[in-house]
Amino acid sequence: MSKVALITGINGQDGKYLLQFLLDKGYIVHGFARKKPALTSENEQQNVFYHENDLSDFSSVLSLFQEIAPDEVYNLAAQSNVKTSFERPEYTSNINSLGTLRLLEAIRILGLQEKTRFFQASSGEIFGKTTELQRTEETPFYPCNPYAVSKIYAHWININYRESYGIFACNGVLFNHESPHRPESFVTRKITASVARIKKGLQEELILGNLDSKRDWGFAGDYVKGMWMTLQQNEPDDYIFATGQAHTVRDFVNFAFKEVGIKIKWEGKGPSEIGKDASCGRIVVRVSPDFYRPVESSISVGSPAKAYNKMGWEPETSFEELVRMMVRNDMGLSYK
Ligand code: NDP
Ligand code: GDP
Repeated sequence: MSKVALITGINGQDGKYLLQFLLDKGYIVHGFARKKPALTSENEQQNVFYHENDLSDFSSVLSLFQEIAPDEVYNLAAQSNVKTSFERPEYTSNINSLGTLRLLEAIRILGLQEKTRFFQASSGEIFGKTTELQRTEETPFYPCNPYAVSKIYAHWININYRESYGIFACNGVLFNHESPHRPESFVTRKITASVARIKKGLQEELILGNLDSKRDWGFAGDYVKGMWMTLQQNEPDDYIFATGQAHTVRDFVNFAFKEVGIKIKWEGKGPSEIGKDASCGRIVVRVSPDFYRPVESSISVGSPAKAYNKMGWEPETSFEELVRMMVRNDMGLSYK
């Protein structure tokens, strides 16, 4: 018999990849979404069931769990934007922290502890300003934005429900992962979409915030595989999913422009820094403090060693391949 999975946040970047991954494995998938998408493939029409729900509404969560009693739950729904979390801290906590509690409560109240396994999308942001350079599962948390604080509540309530009620509850501490499905509110997609528009003559300049900021960027398709692997283990546990390598925003810009045949020449510092097309001197990148954060996480690199040693998970897509995939998608070209 097919396993039944529930994905919250199924319309988001990871939801799209996880849905495809689980369908390929023969799962029946229920999608928890604020809006049902138009069904696309025949496979989806037969094996995917969408439920219009909101994580702020416990009664709708409870009745859904009662109806489908899922074997596996992947909690991907979140207000996932760090900048927005400074503007909407209360809403961010309601969805990210209490939303997770509502799902765990549904499992507990309905007595689904023996049946339902639970994956929580935790975040590398929980380490924030921690001084340890390579973050492991033992690194202390030091969140520096409301999003990270909300994710720490979810992380710990998940562990608490595992220890208190025996729920197979796991955290995947996900470092940044990107794809052609990433919205332009995140820097990687903003860069690749802008580079494509600049190359096509549809945009003059790319305006960014902190170019020195470093992130550990992986490919979303690799990370959803890790989420699934987490729930197939004999014991519940928490794992970091990361590449172990950091790149600056400036590196990302250089690689993205290189993909469309433009070499960037940088001049100036801080908000005055500009990036010119080296072949003609035209300014194509500028900095604006409008995109600076009130507080910035320090260099954020995760160690995927535990996920590799215990589950054999490792990132399969390099930084260069990721940038190429995103730029080619935005140029309307094929990519693997
Ligand atoms: P997205 O922002 O792309 O997707 C999140 C989804 O959550 C959206 O589909 C959104 O639905 C849904 N959602 C938001 N609010 C609610 C609500 N009140 N009720 C129900 N659904 C809601 O995130 P990603 O796919 O990139 O990330 C998946 C998870 O992993 C998130 O929890 C994120 O915080 C976490 N994570 C992601 C990282 C990354 O780099 N991508 C890094 C670390 C953690 P709608 O379409 O209706 O807006
Ligand atoms: P985050 O790591 O979840 O906050 O992902 P983002 O893609 O939003 O930001 C990654 C890094 O890029 C952060 O350090 C930002 O400060 C930096 N950054 C620089 N310019 C921009 C920009 O224009 N937009 C965004 N979103 N981030 C930017």
